[in-house]
Amino acid sequence: MDDTLVRNHRLRRRIHQMIAGQRAESLSVDDAREMAARIQRKGPQAVQALFDRLFDEEDRNGHRLAIMLLTEMDDPVVFEKIHALLKRPHLPEKVRVALLAIEALRGDASSGGAPLLTDGLPELTLDSLLQFSEDFWETMEMEEVSMLWRENFADEPPEDRLLMLEMLMKTAHPKLLGIANLEIAMGNVKIVQFLAQKLGQFDGPLPIRILQRLQSHPDLVVRTLADLSLEQVRERARSASPPKAPPLPEARFYRAHMATDAMSGHYSLIYAVKSPDGQIKFLVVLLDRWDRGVIDCWGCVRYSTEEFNQLLAAMARDFADLQQRRITKRPALTLLTNAMELNVRRRHALPLELAVWCHLFDHEPFKNDPSIPEFGVDCGVCRKPLRTGPRLAPPWVLGDLVVCHRCSKRSLRCPMCGGSATLSECLVTREDSRGQIDLRCPHCFETFPINR
Ligand SMILES: [Zn+2]
Ligand SMILES: [Zn+2]
Repeated sequence: MDDTLVRNHRLRRRIHQMIAGQRAESLSVDDAREMAARIQRKGPQAVQALFDRLFDEEDRNGHRLAIMLLTEMDDPVVFEKIHALLKRPHLPEKVRVALLAIEALRGDASSGGAPLLTDGLPELTLDSLLQFSEDFWETMEMEEVSMLWRENFADEPPEDRLLMLEMLMKTAHPKLLGIANLEIAMGNVKIVQFLAQKLGQFDGPLPIRILQRLQSHPDLVVRTLADLSLEQVRERARSASPPKAPPLPEARFYRAHMATDAMSGHYSLIYAVKSPDGQIKFLVVLLDRWDRGVIDCWGCVRYSTEEFNQLLAAMARDFADLQQRRITKRPALTLLTNAMELNVRRRHALPLELAVWCHLFDHEPFKNDPSIPEFGVDCGVCRKPLRTGPRLAPPWVLGDLVVCHRCSKRSLRCPMCGGSATLSECLVTREDSRGQIDLRCPHCFETFPINR
């Protein structure tokens, strides 16, 4: 007699017991990975046992663990199973959203900022998201909640988003604060007004920081509501009434690395923080020193120390031709601040993703580091602000001197031999303290001062 059925049944029961013996809230990131790998090694039947847990409405712990573990599994079996289940009619809504969330989180973890939901998958709707109880949020990091919002709902009309935010934020769950940051960056005034009022019901340092920023918002209603909300939060803190949900643990600065491309005026910066549970979160930003400030931003959560080191090694190989170094918090914050100030000064919108990650660093007090070069410099010849962009020719760089594309192509006549050459063809021999630049004629090799 074929005993496959019996063996499968036993295996699934063993996995159910394993799940029952583990509290979701005490499972560390590394433990979750290890446990997921252990279940995967036991084969598809073992993985199936995790899907069983999703259907058990009574077992909240098992539900939560199944989401956490399936998210860690980079396995086509999981992918196929999710798709097969989503096609099933009468699938309970809670299971459907869990499946979509697992798919979204897996996509995010493996591709680092690529679109979250695969084509052909039904969309995660706001209505379905609302089916979720508080413990759903426990399985996700705040940044993941923000990315879900960004990828799935940011394009919905503001009035729809406002309705959903009103319902979603009834719980004042701290993991929703990332969505508040995103929506404030998106800037719909009605939504920002709602948030300015709502944030008064959240506890912890993050809502206070967001509200303090809103105190200088251009809209008077926003400013007034932010004042009132701040008073509310502080009043609750003074009266020592226990917070509805414990605020998120504050992560501390862990490491920063920068890669410099002096010729293009670009910097890549990795800024990492470590949570009390040992998990590393980091953001990567691409900065343009000449004109555009922060050009691009993405980030990741749930990295172990080992994985983070592997990532750094991989990036060091990718940027082998650039100057790279580990830096301390102060120069890292100076780079970020200088770049963001340049975005504001030159009216280049900050990437929306920065709103997902900025809370990793924007509360850190710091003093400007003079070793970080100035952002937003002018052309060394015509003294006009440098402009850069994908369609613009790059400035011409020689040592500390940067010259706009127009000036570098400017035709000069040599005062000695009368020959003509473009400025970039003439070698700059020195720039003294008075800003004097000398050129060397490529025809007669005489030097002469530049005529600005
Ligand atoms: Zn110029
Ligand atoms: Zn000459």
